[in-house]
Amino acid sequence: MADIVILGAGISGHTAALHLSRKLPPGSTITVVSPNADWNWIPSNIWVGVGRMKAKKVLFKLAPVYRRLGVTFHQAKATAIWPDGDETDQRPGVDIEFTEPGRAGQTQRIRYDFLINATGPQLKFGMTPGLGPEGNSLSVCTADHAVHTAEELKRVIEEMKQGAERTLVVGMGHGICTCEGAAFEYVFNVDHELRAAGVRDKARLIYLTNEADLGDFGVGGMVFKQSGYETTSKLWTESLFRERGVEAIVGAHVEKVEPGAVHFETLDGKHHTLNFDFAMLLPPFGGVGLKAFAPDGTDISDTMFAPNGLMKVDADYSGKPYDQWRAADWPSTYQVPGRDNIWAVGIAFAPPHQISTPRKSANGTVITPSPAKLGAACVASAGADLRTGSAAAMVMVPVVPDKERFPTGRDLRYTRGEIGLSGHWTKLALHYMFIYKAKALPGWHLIPE
Ligand SMILES: Cc1cc2nc3c(=O)[nH]c(=O)nc-3n(C[C@H](O)[C@H](O)[C@H](O)COP(=O)(O)OP(=O)(O)OC[C@H]3O[C@@H](n4cnc5c(N)ncnc54)[C@H](O)[C@@H]3O)c2cc1C
Repeated sequence: MADIVILGAGISGHTAALHLSRKLPPGSTITVVSPNADWNWIPSNIWVGVGRMKAKKVLFKLAPVYRRLGVTFHQAKATAIWPDGDETDQRPGVDIEFTEPGRAGQTQRIRYDFLINATGPQLKFGMTPGLGPEGNSLSVCTADHAVHTAEELKRVIEEMKQGAERTLVVGMGHGICTCEGAAFEYVFNVDHELRAAGVRDKARLIYLTNEADLGDFGVGGMVFKQSGYETTSKLWTESLFRERGVEAIVGAHVEKVEPGAVHFETLDGKHHTLNFDFAMLLPPFGGVGLKAFAPDGTDISDTMFAPNGLMKVDADYSGKPYDQWRAADWPSTYQVPGRDNIWAVGIAFAPPHQISTPRKSANGTVITPSPAKLGAACVASAGADLRTGSAAAMVMVPVVPDKERFPTGRDLRYTRGEIGLSGHWTKLALHYMFIYKAKALPGWHLIPE
């Protein structure tokens, strides 16, 4: 019997809660702490962001699901961990601040035997002046952002229908961004919508990315195997851009976004300005700002968190040179060193290093994708294993590309078609799996035993 606290109810936290609610013996307790009332199937926000899906299709209320499972749900954000207890109680604790209407701002320290940190990313729009929905660009990172972005897309499409020519920019809002795959998918969704509206010839559509090459996706590229043939993601992706007439600017660090203008530096050290009528640019990710304290109140955050705020786990953080990086540097238990009762899963754990080749511009600006942490990596790290064997698993599988340096034996096998139509159905299928199956709980489980 144990008291388990899970921080975050996203892909990894919710997965952990579902599994634990089935597996724990009676008498144990599970408490989930998460600031939003809704769960968001984030991967389908790229469909909300072009108006193809309603926000309500990618959201569901967490409280009723957890009520049925016997899981305590606090709509609150965690602010600090006391891993060795405090001066009044030796049991470890977490400080939370409620966000639910009626209790907003109230604080509480809850005690745990085991803690899972699944707090995901902080969307760090502030790292680039003018970036983000509160600045001068758009986002699809949350359902609300995506709804707003769809409205803006509709507006520019209407203007093009009236004969105007428009420039649309989609991509990464900083040199160290991750999640290139999402921007890549979104730019082709936009391309599709422009064609469907009959205005593609009025649009200049540009993919602006920190990847040095197309097809890098934050993992240094991939090799697809199909029918005995091997194709690099670079070749495959470049040909897709050519076919659809989408321009690409690679190796770019966005320095500033002004109304209608994005300023960026490229790997050759040159500075550029690109005027736009619509810009969806993803932010860099960091940790959510959790602190950690010793019982006497001493701040010990730097012993548990990397400088970017993500939690250190059983990875190799020695900072060895690029040519010595190995797959084995990555975590296997996701347990925090020296703490046998704390894990960090999903985006919340600190990666040991990039996977893409580290690069700097001629001026010394870092322009390298941070490692992609896809949903499946998060599900897997939350204790699940997506063994569906379907296209869904393939899209969700974390990709480690270079077998010599990263000898995981994993290949990504999906065809161009699956990125388009069946990519859509894959996302929908997973979305419905989470929503409807979760509603059918107890008795349902994501992974076949
Ligand atoms: C537009 C987009 C499209 C994507 N498409 C794909 C795709 O097709 N395939 C794929 O595999 N991956 C995709 N991803 C990546 C995928 O969404 C992430 O890998 C995944 O959501 C990470 O899961 P997580 O649980 O770590 O974080 P999240 O899902 O972000 O969940 C984090 C949770 O923690 C909560 N939280 C935040 N702060 C606190 C706090 N202080 N205390 C407590 N809780 C807190 C949040 O509210 C949230 O509930 C996409 C990402 C984006 C942005």
